[in-house]
Amino acid sequence: MKLLSIVVPCYNEQEVLPLFYDKITEVMTGMKSEHPELDYEVVFINDGSKDKTLEGLRKYAKMDERIRYISFSRNFGKEAGMFAGLEASKGDYVVVMDADLQHPPEFLPQMYEYVSSGEYDCATTRRVDREGESKIRSFFARKFYKIMNKISQTEIVDGAQDFRFMTRQMVDSILSMREYNRFSKGIFSWVGYRVKYIEFKNVERAAGTTAWSFWGLFKYSLEGIIAFSTAPLAIASLLGIISCFIAFIMAVVIIIQKLTVGIRADGYPTIVCLILLFGGLQLFTTGILGQYLAKTYMECKNRPVYLVQETEKDARENMENKD
Ligand code: UDP
Ligand code: MG
Repeated sequence: MKLLSIVVPCYNEQEVLPLFYDKITEVMTGMKSEHPELDYEVVFINDGSKDKTLEGLRKYAKMDERIRYISFSRNFGKEAGMFAGLEASKGDYVVVMDADLQHPPEFLPQMYEYVSSGEYDCATTRRVDREGESKIRSFFARKFYKIMNKISQTEIVDGAQDFRFMTRQMVDSILSMREYNRFSKGIFSWVGYRVKYIEFKNVERAAGTTAWSFWGLFKYSLEGIIAFSTAPLAIASLLGIISCFIAFIMAVVIIIQKLTVGIRADGYPTIVCLILLFGGLQLFTTGILGQYLAKTYMECKNRPVYLVQETEKDARENMENKD
């Protein structure tokens, strides 16, 4: 027997949860009839939802023994949710997917073929268009991938998603990266292995709204850069070298001027501009240093990535006690 673990982080997903449950049950029943050796479990992570997501999960866990869930003590973010789900998963194969059906479960049979054949260790979808997304957002997304791939050794594929079907070996590799600041796009790529990209057109969310604001995405992309590149740290040295070079040339020019035609003491605006410029550059680069220092500070505190308040075991025990 082979077990497939389906890991689903959920944050305020009460509206899509029933849709997701029906869909995944349908797809997996179909898959099971085709591959009798395959069984599955679904591990939902309730990431501190403020709506009735947890109630829904309790209900499904009591109804269906294939449904498991982990409920966090508060919202820890999707990265922590995925990490918790991977840790809890028991399967020989693990797939991570969103609850909102933007990662269509219809891909699962195809992904299973690729990975179980032994040809690939991971199958994932890649968006080829950004339909249903604002122009500005697409523009910044593209720029982000460009910059990121220039300054980081870890390649991040444009349009690659967190919809990943993986072998146990790859999951264990990911779990061995115990960093607190988790940037999964980078982590998935950093561990390597043979990855199959399945191209597909973007789908809109089935219900509910996205938790991502533009500002949120912007901050997330900076996190990604800091987590997987140290290139920004070199900006200070680079600017320093350039300004030393300019200063040297200026000094030579001034000395020659003084010895030949003489210098009239003006240039007050120039001095003000230069002080502002270099003051700004110094603060900017100190700020970059601060960002890395802050990440290092958080890492060395060694805090847990997430805290569990309740799991499916609690729901099932409750049910037995009532009987
Ligand atoms: N999610 C989560 N914790 C969060 C935010 C989101 O677990 O703090 C989950 C959410 O429930 C969904 C997935 O992450 O299953 C993707 O979120 P969303 O659809 O809001 O993002 P988008 O598809 O717009 O990237
Ligand atoms: Mg979504």
